[in-house]
Amino acid sequence: MEWTTDDRVSGVPGEVAVLSAYERRVLGALCETLLPPGGAIAPGAADLGTAGYIEALLGRLESRPRWLVRAMLAGFDLTALLGRPPEMFHRLDAEARHRWVEASRTSTLRPRREALAGLEVLVELAYASDPRVASLIGYDGAPLVPLDPAGPPPPVELPVIGYPEVVDARIVADVVIVGSGAGGAVAADTLARAGLDVVVLEEGPAVHRSDIVDHRPAERLFELYRDGGLTFTLGSPVISLPMGRAVGGTTVVNSGTCFRTPDTVLGAWEASGITSVGPDDMAPWFDAVDEVIGVQPVPEEVLGANGDVVRRGAEELGWSGGPIRRNIRGCHGHGVCAFGCPVDAKQAMHLSYLPRAAAAGARLFSGTRVRRIRIEGGRAAGVVADVLDPETGRRRGGLHVSARATVLAAGAIFTPALLARQHLARSSRQVGRNLVIHPGAGTTARFDEPLRAWRGTMQSYYVDEKLAGGVLLEATFPPPGLGYSAGSLPGWGRDKSLFALYPHMASIGSIIGDAGVGRVGALGRSGVAIRYSLTRDDAAKVLEGIAMAAEIFFAAGAVEVYPMLPGLPSIRSVAEVRYVREGRWRPSDLHLSAYHPMGSARMGASPAGSVVDPHGRVWDVPDLFVFDGSVLPSSCHVNPQITIMALAARMAARLADSLS
Ligand SMILES: Cc1cc2nc3c(=O)[nH]c(=O)nc-3n(C[C@H](O)[C@H](O)[C@H](O)COP(=O)(O)OP(=O)(O)OC[C@H]3O[C@@H](n4cnc5c(N)ncnc54)[C@H](O)[C@@H]3O)c2cc1C
Ligand code: SF4
Repeated sequence: MEWTTDDRVSGVPGEVAVLSAYERRVLGALCETLLPPGGAIAPGAADLGTAGYIEALLGRLESRPRWLVRAMLAGFDLTALLGRPPEMFHRLDAEARHRWVEASRTSTLRPRREALAGLEVLVELAYASDPRVASLIGYDGAPLVPLDPAGPPPPVELPVIGYPEVVDARIVADVVIVGSGAGGAVAADTLARAGLDVVVLEEGPAVHRSDIVDHRPAERLFELYRDGGLTFTLGSPVISLPMGRAVGGTTVVNSGTCFRTPDTVLGAWEASGITSVGPDDMAPWFDAVDEVIGVQPVPEEVLGANGDVVRRGAEELGWSGGPIRRNIRGCHGHGVCAFGCPVDAKQAMHLSYLPRAAAAGARLFSGTRVRRIRIEGGRAAGVVADVLDPETGRRRGGLHVSARATVLAAGAIFTPALLARQHLARSSRQVGRNLVIHPGAGTTARFDEPLRAWRGTMQSYYVDEKLAGGVLLEATFPPPGLGYSAGSLPGWGRDKSLFALYPHMASIGSIIGDAGVGRVGALGRSGVAIRYSLTRDDAAKVLEGIAMAAEIFFAAGAVEVYPMLPGLPSIRSVAEVRYVREGRWRPSDLHLSAYHPMGSARMGASPAGSVVDPHGRVWDVPDLFVFDGSVLPSSCHVNPQITIMALAARMAARLADSLS
């Protein structure tokens, strides 16, 4: 495509000025430095108005995540005062800025390194998702299998109520459920089908297929993820921990991978005294979930080049693995599963369990953020929620729900925060503790031949050779500039040469079965603080995952692999993989992201060491239940969504029996 400066744009519809003139100057200087004009891809960030686009995206967020970006901008700008001569970054000339950026990548000053890393992800995301840039590398977002000319089946119309249909109201129900994700949706279906009057309150917006089709993946990130995906743990290293915030919860934006909990894990939970969670007890619950959400192995025609490469490498090494089981019906391989499925193939909760629940009479509310649990006479009696304006996020009214049972399913970060804010369930002192997140690294490799690995299922092939050692690998390739790809290359090169080679890249993500060392606490009226420091044992597992990914890629014929370790930006042969294994790396050297929070209100056999009993009942508070990822007693070692769903179905069935 011929590109001219007349194509310049400044942002997206609905643009709002949210940065000060100073912050705009810093952002502009950073964009120009990271992505100057010329080189392998002609337009620079300044030519395309990337800074304006970033500001427009930030305009869609609430003030807290925006504040984080503003702090990173000012912080990074000021770090240059440590240079010679001392000067703020945005005041340096182009050459000095470039040198400062390069030195910052390997700086021993963590805030300097991490502020740059965070801002670089944002700049690359905005630049790469510009359709003019995407088309220069051949990305068109087309599915691998052509769509039926008659179009996809009609969209699912889910009856959801929100502002302005509801402003202030008092509602009475049998059960109120907080959150509509994997746990909340399955619970709503089970309880409503048992004949109970169920109300589901969800903070996020309702999602319709047309919202997904009409927006770029980067914009969907800012719409469907909490805080635009800018959620992190505090500790060493800082870990990105994105979560969904929508009707359907994180399942709307997840990759659709469905692993049953390994028998060894269920056996350990059972051995700890938790009744009816052994492999035989859980099998029927998993069967039922599989049926509702259409779990099946990725069909061969949508496995895509990324899955092919990983399969080839794993088979060459004789390692066990296979096409991933996913919740899909009619998948065409668009490869954008983590930004909402444009053809409703991925059977997220808003397309599977919630319509069933609604058909059985459950009432679903969007844009309603539960503020507190109502406690009357020592028992849970319902909740109080703020009704939010979907355009501004501002409070417009209040919803009081009275219920015989209150179910928390706000996810493993916000459920413990709700409990902690009101000092509930404190006797075991375990609320918010034992947080597991499955941290992992993305490892990218370059091949001679073009792969266009974005075509096909985003997460396609697994390698479980070392699952018993806590390392699971999954071939995962997101659209350009998003997800693993953004943080798993050592910069794009000043001439954007690495980015121009994106069609030649393949990528693997690792999942580590970590120790539950994280901790969640409530912060202010609705915020949270997530503390997590990677242990040395878990850091060793991450490094083993990177080394295994590199071995798979070299076995499949890769030219170069990017382990993203300080001083080791790339390796070029299988012999060099030993540098990954033998290096003296610290946890803070690792670039990590995590997608599976769990365990922060764990279930157990006795009130002494757990927050809920084996059926999700909060030990300390009658009529209060937790049915989400918080209850997992430990890491499940695999992607957790169907573990959460199967446990929620089992716990909700028990609750239905007790209320009927
Ligand atoms: C990018 C990504 C990819 C993933 N891929 C996979 C995968 O392929 N396979 C897999 O098994 N798992 C995957 N996961 C994880 C999986 O989706 C989650 O483990 C699962 O959805 C958690 O279920 P939950 O019910 O605990 O919480 P969620 O599904 O997160 O639902 C919680 C809901 O509660 C709402 N909420 C929070 N606070 C309040 C409040 N105060 N009032 C009202 N509502 C509130 C939230 O907005 C949210 O919608 C992925 C996660 C991410 C982020
Ligand atoms: S599930 Fe993912 S790969 Fe399949 S059609 Fe939807 S977005 Fe595309």
